[in-house]
Amino acid sequence: CGIVGYLGEKDAFPVLIKGLRRLEYRGYDSAGVALVNGNGNLNVLKSKGKVDDLVAFCEDKDISGSVGIAHTRWATHGEPSSANAHPHYSQSKNLAIIHNGIIENYADLKNKLIAKGIKFRSDTDTEVLVQLIEYIQERKSLDLLTAVQLALHEVIGAYAIAVIDRRIPNQIIAACKQSPLVVGIGDNEFFIGSDASPIVEYTDQVVYLDDGNIAVLRLGEELKVVSILNRKLYPEIQTVDIN
Ligand code: GLU
Repeated sequence: CGIVGYLGEKDAFPVLIKGLRRLEYRGYDSAGVALVNGNGNLNVLKSKGKVDDLVAFCEDKDISGSVGIAHTRWATHGEPSSANAHPHYSQSKNLAIIHNGIIENYADLKNKLIAKGIKFRSDTDTEVLVQLIEYIQERKSLDLLTAVQLALHEVIGAYAIAVIDRRIPNQIIAACKQSPLVVGIGDNEFFIGSDASPIVEYTDQVVYLDDGNIAVLRLGEELKVVSILNRKLYPEIQTVDIN
């Protein structure tokens, strides 16, 4: 239901938790965060309940890393539980995803992936997407952006997503269709949010991602936006009024 992402030089965890709190008004049943730490490990931490419960759960965990994604979930497919909370990660645990919305054809896609030997850890529609992205990426040795584009091509439904790959810790890929997503552009740092509220205290430069578009956030590079068919787009950077 709520999406937050951070990529930069700060510790991501406090930024993500603060962002989740700003999105609490949307309602949710569970919360989670995924971070890539300095050793290239992906840590996925999630719990049923409130953001406070997540913070308590994380107390004795490794929360280091300056790239991360976080989510508050309002369950549509699969009961509220820590296993069904986002982020979800791929079979190899290289990729993690957060998702708002509904993947309508998830059952078909899930059955196809199970037939290929992929094992699922949750009952959500969302996990299908991260497993599909990895399956496409590995089968064809593709870069993450291309794999995300091909996977979204197969998906019917509404989504705002953000994906990280522990092997490429300087990058977040985000996309949306019929579900809002905002990218914040800071000074050698990027933010994402379901709305601008988790972003505005850090930067007033934002891009409201258009339907069907994919944003590639890479440290040290300009924000890149492309269509699912990889057409380069030139998004309007807006200055939001912080007061
Ligand atoms: N359909 C997804 C789920 O049930 C995402 C729900 C949401 O937008 O929070 O896990």
